Parts: sequence; C-alpha cells; structure tokens
Amino acid sequence: MNASATQQPLNPGDQAAPGTPGSGEGICPLCSGCGKTPDGKDCPNCGGSGRIIEGIGGG
Ligand SMILES: [Zn+2]
Repeated sequence: MNASATQQPLNPGDQAAPGTPGSGEGICPLCSGCGKTPDGKDCPNCGGSGRIIEGIGGG
C-alpha cells in the first residue's frame, strides 16, 4: 500500500517499466509514433505519447 509517486503508470503497450535494464523506448506500433488514433483520440496503446517501452535483448 505504499504508492510510489515516482513510478510512472505503464501504458498497455509498455513491456517494461521505464529504466528497466535491457529495455528501451520504441515507436508505438499502433499509432506509428504520432500518439493519436485515426479518429484523433489519444492512442490507447501508448497513452498518447507515441512511444512505448520495449523489452530489448532477452538473451
Ligand atoms: Zn500509440
């Protein structure tokens, strides 16, 4: 029950928390980085940021 104020809420498209080792920022595949859907609404996958956190490596 100790809410971390510094923790950013993850978007549905995020695969890892920001700053997670082995992860990196990537272009949202749903909106192609524009952060908007064709309807002009905020992209639900990335939360309108146009970018998601991808899990990279995974070796
Ligand atoms: Zn998006």
